[in-house]
Amino acid sequence: MNAPLSRRQFFKVCTAGIATSSAVGLGLVSNSAVAEVRAFKLARTTETRGTCPYCSVSCGVVMYSREEQGKKKIIHIEGDPDNPINKGTLCPKGAGLLDMVHSPKRLLHPQVREPGSNEWKQISWDEALNRVARHMKKDRDANFVEKNKDGVTVNRWNTTEFLISSTVSNEASYLQVKMGRALGMVALDTQARI
Ligand code: SF4
Repeated sequence: MNAPLSRRQFFKVCTAGIATSSAVGLGLVSNSAVAEVRAFKLARTTETRGTCPYCSVSCGVVMYSREEQGKKKIIHIEGDPDNPINKGTLCPKGAGLLDMVHSPKRLLHPQVREPGSNEWKQISWDEALNRVARHMKKDRDANFVEKNKDGVTVNRWNTTEFLISSTVSNEASYLQVKMGRALGMVALDTQARI
């Protein structure tokens, strides 16, 4: 265990930290030194490409993970320089993605709150998908409108809305919209709000 710092040592460490970051900011530390520190930090990590989930700009990210105590853990996330949308940049929200990934409040499993209950219960993905499919079928069977009051074929299902992700690929978006429209859904939306 490290010995506690004395007051004098504490100020020395702080001064050294401020001096280092100021030196980087002022351009007094070479790019190669910064690159070396970065390479040291990311040594033995695995790179995985992904998409920032926050908004419909859909910036590309690179996630760096490392094995820690037998489990893969993401230790750093940065903008993907090869992504044509953001070319390596991230806005402040995207730059804070690591906190979101490791947040103790993050939901990792589907949950359900049964009618009349005030508690959320964890369920499996299979059960969640089956429940959603059952609810959709029941509602569609009860509310599907084949013809309007003038006898014109409309084939619409107005009582369920489909919320589609705006951070998936064009191909996935195409399939999601096709599926919704094929079922007769009129209300399709995404989280894009920019
Ligand atoms: S603009 Fe920001 S929040 Fe939106 S996708 Fe890019 S990094 Fe994420």
